[in-house]
Amino acid sequence: MDKHYDLIILGGGCAGLSLALRLAELGKQSPKTLIIEKRPAYSNDRTWCFWDEGNPALKDWADHIWSSFKVQFGDNQLVKNCRQNPYVMISAQTFYARAIQNITANSQSFTFNNDESVLAVIKQASQTWRITTNMGVYTANHIVDTRPASQINDDMSLLWQSFIGFEIEVSPDLFDAQQFTLMDIDKNFKNGLGFTYVLPVTPNRALIEYTVFCEQAMSASSLQPYLEVALSKYTKHAEYKVLRKECGQLPMGNKTVKKSDDPSYIFAGLYAGAARPSSGYAFQRIQSWANVCAHSWAEHQSFIPAPKDAALTAIVDDIFLHVLKSNPAVAATLFFSFFSKAKLISTIRFLSDHATITDLGSIILSMPTVLFLKSLPSYVKKRISISLYASLSKSTK
Ligand SMILES: Cc1cc2nc3c(=O)[nH]c(=O)nc-3n(C[C@H](O)[C@H](O)[C@H](O)COP(=O)(O)OP(=O)(O)OC[C@H]3O[C@@H](n4cnc5c(N)ncnc54)[C@H](O)[C@@H]3O)c2cc1C
Repeated sequence: MDKHYDLIILGGGCAGLSLALRLAELGKQSPKTLIIEKRPAYSNDRTWCFWDEGNPALKDWADHIWSSFKVQFGDNQLVKNCRQNPYVMISAQTFYARAIQNITANSQSFTFNNDESVLAVIKQASQTWRITTNMGVYTANHIVDTRPASQINDDMSLLWQSFIGFEIEVSPDLFDAQQFTLMDIDKNFKNGLGFTYVLPVTPNRALIEYTVFCEQAMSASSLQPYLEVALSKYTKHAEYKVLRKECGQLPMGNKTVKKSDDPSYIFAGLYAGAARPSSGYAFQRIQSWANVCAHSWAEHQSFIPAPKDAALTAIVDDIFLHVLKSNPAVAATLFFSFFSKAKLISTIRFLSDHATITDLGSIILSMPTVLFLKSLPSYVKKRISISLYASLSKSTK
């Protein structure tokens, strides 16, 4: 069997399959590709949500959409109608199944090796890559590495988004399947921002998640007590059946983004900076990268990493995270102001990576001024010390 490929994708999760999906659309032009995935089988392990703004990829794969949402902070409640730009959910089981079906229907060039772990990758004298797994050895001209960090530590990201969610079923009809809760802010959580996120899909079935934004990544078991309180509230103490569980720890502002100096080896996915720093949203950013990366193959026979965020968006995100980090106690006020004062379309475009300068202005003006002015000196100080450190290390090289 020929074990040499144009491309080997390490990790067949969201980024790996998204790239393969776009490459397969090239038909005969698609590279001979091997996808090596550690998991023996895919499961319904997550739900991907995004706003239907700017014609997002794969929105026709939606399992559910919502036309309004709530943000709750103590007795204050905002209800926003988002019919113009609904919130879209694709379940992992839909994504994995449809991606694999489309890839195999569009092209013969793809091989999927599940239940196989990449152990080592080295560049050979012939300039090709040699990949060793627990099952064998392969070679390739190009590598796209989407494997997550093997271990996470708090220093890897400015903040972490940690969450645990149960998809539950209750007998009474308790939920409005047209409306989701984006944030029900927990006033009792002091070590950052804690909130409940509720995605009802029928009147008696919903995914209820407890999420925390804070400096330390939190384990699912440490978050479970908070989730239990949220479950009691949203089920009104009725009995419920747990259909499925999901959890995660997403970097918000990677301090070290995986990068490679060799154009034939690129990193992609969460630890290559796919998650938006201020929100942790990554699905649509991965789709955009997969699209441009496949075009790059079609036009130049090369693969490219995701582009950096636009400068102004990166600055607003950075300030946003800095305020969250330096003033965790007021983070709730910050978020509530964001949703109550900024224009809804500006908020949605900001969260979807499409903010215009006017949107960014509307968002900055929505922030509590005192809070912002207070955090600016330490933000500027931090930026200056980072620039000084960078120029000093350059001059000592
Ligand atoms: C529960 C959950 C819900 C989320 N919800 C949203 C959301 O609503 N909206 C949004 O925008 N983002 C969301 N995200 C964030 C982001 O979209 C996902 O984390 C996404 O899956 C990231 O894609 P990825 O390819 O980087 O990582 P993954 O999808 O995790 O893929 C990495 C793959 O590499 C494989 N792998 C690891 N090590 C090896 C190895 N040694 N050899 C071979 N394979 C290996 C893994 O098994 C995995 O399949 C969510 C994340 C989680 C965890």
